[in-house]
Amino acid sequence: MARYTGPVCRFCRREGLKLYLKSDRCFTDKCSFDRNQYPPGQHGQRRIRVSEYGQQLREKQKVKRIYGVLEKQFRRYFQQAARKKGNTGENLLALLEGRLDNTVFRLGFAGTRAEARQLVRHGHVQVNGRKVNIPSYQVQVGDDLAVREKSRKMQRVIDSLERAQGRPLVSWLTLDREKFAGSVGGVPVRAELTLPIQENLIVELYSK
Ligand code: SF4
Repeated sequence: MARYTGPVCRFCRREGLKLYLKSDRCFTDKCSFDRNQYPPGQHGQRRIRVSEYGQQLREKQKVKRIYGVLEKQFRRYFQQAARKKGNTGENLLALLEGRLDNTVFRLGFAGTRAEARQLVRHGHVQVNGRKVNIPSYQVQVGDDLAVREKSRKMQRVIDSLERAQGRPLVSWLTLDREKFAGSVGGVPVRAELTLPIQENLIVELYSK
């Protein structure tokens, strides 16, 4: 599946909030959002009135950028969420949270979702004892995840785990730091998403 490979700090500036796409850098004074809090580009500093459609579009783009998903795949997630019972917006976020790359990031094996995606793509992650190298793989309740034994010496994994110690773990995951392993104990909980997301705007946008 294709992925975006260009600069990412411009996304934070475009969406008007820190999306934390760059691990350590996001917490230093090198953060470009902290230095330039206006949208990127020649006309970024102009004042513009955002229409209702514009707000819905920005919300969709923001969520896509947080999870590193491109339009086609995102729309597929939406269709899947709409087919499920319950609130479509919350279903959509649960599907995105349940991606393997996001789960690896949540467990702290990687500093960002992009890094987690690379770990998965390069075959460093196992699910239920078997290598899975598909970042969009949906984890299920009861799945056991682990960094492959050979990969546990990787300095970046060790560093990420250390840094993640100060970060609270979401309630639907459990982590065994010593074993570089974790398990899925439940379904993602909407209330635990800390970034401000108005999923109802995305539902409105795609329901037109
Ligand atoms: Fe966003 Fe700042 Fe992190 Fe860049 S460094 S991704 S602007 S939060």
